[in-house]
Amino acid sequence: MKQLPETFGSLVFDDRVMKAMLPAKIYQSLRHTIDENVSLDPSVANAVAAAMKEWAVKNGATHFTHWFQPLTGITAEKHDSFISPAPDGGVIMEFSGKELIQGEPDASSFPSGGLRATFEARGYTAWDPTSYAFIKGKTLCIPTAFCAYGGEALDKKTPLLRSMQALNRQAMRILKLFGNTDVKCVKTSVGPEQEYFLIDRELYKQRKDLVFTGRTLFGAPAPKGQELDDHYFGVIKPRVQAYMEELNEELWKLGILAKTEHNEVAPSQHELAPIYTSTNVAADHNQLTMEIMQKVALKHGLVCLLHEKPFAGVNGSGKHNNWSIATDTGVNLLSPGETPYENAQFLLFLCAVIKAVDDYQDLLRIAVATAGNDHRLGANEAPPAVVSIFLGDELTAILEAIEKDEPYSGAEKETLRLGVHALPKFKKDATDRNRTSPFAFTGNKFEFRMLGSANSISCTNIMLNAAVAESLRIYADRLETADDFETALHEMIRKTIKDHKRILFNGNGYDDAWIKEATEERGLCNLRTTPDAIPHLLDKKNMEMLISNKVFTEAELRSRHEITLENYNKAVLIEANTMADMARREILPAVSGYCGKLAAAVAAKKAVLPGAACGYETETLASLGELTDTIAQRTAELEAVTAKCRAIDDVAEQGFAIRDALLSAMDALREGCDKAETMTAKEDWPFPTYGDLLFGV
Ligand code: ADP
Ligand code: MG
Repeated sequence: MKQLPETFGSLVFDDRVMKAMLPAKIYQSLRHTIDENVSLDPSVANAVAAAMKEWAVKNGATHFTHWFQPLTGITAEKHDSFISPAPDGGVIMEFSGKELIQGEPDASSFPSGGLRATFEARGYTAWDPTSYAFIKGKTLCIPTAFCAYGGEALDKKTPLLRSMQALNRQAMRILKLFGNTDVKCVKTSVGPEQEYFLIDRELYKQRKDLVFTGRTLFGAPAPKGQELDDHYFGVIKPRVQAYMEELNEELWKLGILAKTEHNEVAPSQHELAPIYTSTNVAADHNQLTMEIMQKVALKHGLVCLLHEKPFAGVNGSGKHNNWSIATDTGVNLLSPGETPYENAQFLLFLCAVIKAVDDYQDLLRIAVATAGNDHRLGANEAPPAVVSIFLGDELTAILEAIEKDEPYSGAEKETLRLGVHALPKFKKDATDRNRTSPFAFTGNKFEFRMLGSANSISCTNIMLNAAVAESLRIYADRLETADDFETALHEMIRKTIKDHKRILFNGNGYDDAWIKEATEERGLCNLRTTPDAIPHLLDKKNMEMLISNKVFTEAELRSRHEITLENYNKAVLIEANTMADMARREILPAVSGYCGKLAAAVAAKKAVLPGAACGYETETLASLGELTDTIAQRTAELEAVTAKCRAIDDVAEQGFAIRDALLSAMDALREGCDKAETMTAKEDWPFPTYGDLLFGV
């Protein structure tokens, strides 16, 4: 058997392969593009394509695809074989630089939010050399951006790359002011922790709700849930262990640094975390990870659920976006330094994040807004829909001391002068204990915890990078023209703390009192649902920031606003259809059939023993009879509300109708059905129960 270091990245056209296969000049030119974000020299494309093809064919590939991330939230691929007819009747394997650099999938059915109607029907894909090509199955996958012919982004990668460039631009200005001349570029890195459920495939197939919507729309609670906390970090069952082993192997072959795995809080819930990497690559890897998690599960007779709330009453699944900013020279700009100067620089970057998160709370909320994630945020298992930052007591005390020009108790007696005094040492591990904060500083990075398990991390990082770039831009504008750098720096940090301290909160984010304080006293946004959040994408301040930092154009923002709302509406409408279908064609016939059995039992008893007591049967029959009518009536109501919602043209208006009327009609139907489940014989219930699903692996 091959050892891990040998198989790691064996399906990736990575640096090792490129170095070995490309002529030195070509390799250097490509490396330059990858490391420093400079544009690609077109002459290298042919050489790279030739090497890529040779390597891919040697590793069993017959096809290639431009692999991209349209606004569906998942990845897309269209395979083309390498074959080209040869004069002798055979074929040769061909792949040109042009095919590597640009593709033209007939992509007219991807969501474009009106962009394609106004511009061009076709879309094109463009190679992203900063993310390595890899082999999946028999196909060479080339990570690409996906754009309309006018250049408008139709995907999640393009704006992510733009946001990284925006942050790089502004961070470089700041670093120059601090005298860093050796740094060539600044990149953000991300390590996303991914939660998921594993359930038995045979049981899954019997549940239309899981098949069509990814979550259970019915289901009475199992006798046991997560109350014993016996699953969290518990011993991993052999079947799950076998799954995790194969998953890791597949991920490692693709160069994905899968590192940590453990059981999560809910029964059947697990987590996987990779080692962090450059944001763009992390986003590609997370998409691939989600895909492979699902694929490998099938091989083990399992299904991997990535929905944010597959089961009512137990925890849903999220994703933690661990994020930091680092230079190409290896300095983490969110890590407190050793010298007074490094510390001032650290504090400035820290303040840039604080300012960004406060100024653009709404954009961070928007980035994670989906129908699925609405079930989690604020439901006592995930951070609330209110964004706030946890810094920990010591760092907070330091910032307070700076703001008030007061001595910090942990330090010398004098007040802190940035750039003059070293920062008092504070313990890093004291900072990671608050799990209820949406945005926590964890020593040398921030952990944004509002993402849903199925979210693309691109959305979050686009907003985060752009917002921090904007803070840095404002700082750089001011500092570049300051007469006295140190005084200006000190004043700016103080001003940031003063202006934005409302976003800092070290307490319990799950507490209702906090939501009240946050919204009523501090004026923080509480955008509870997706229809509440998404319209703010088009707020003037948000549009201006995203457009001026060249992350989105106005047309792109309008299209994304439309698509995100549309996705929400469609997701819930499909759920409503599925519920009505299951109620009419499975639950009602089953309950009614069971009522028939009860009635027959009564008749049978009485035939033998005319005076027999039939209390249990008749009472159950009466209750179920009544419930059947209630269910039928609520199904009809749900269908009527669905039809009404469908008829609304305006997406925003439709979103609100769905949230207000449709979700409650769904809840009402579920309530009746779940009650019926508790009274119907197990063998007569038409699909597996919560107990079966959650404890079935
Ligand atoms: P936790 O206490 O949240 O379980 P860890 O400290 O083990 O977390 O890290 C969780 C994730 O954070 C991992 O994916 C890790 O690679 C990532 N991470 C660590 N350092 C950084 C960094 N500087 N930038 C981005 N992500 C990081
Ligand atoms: Mg974490």
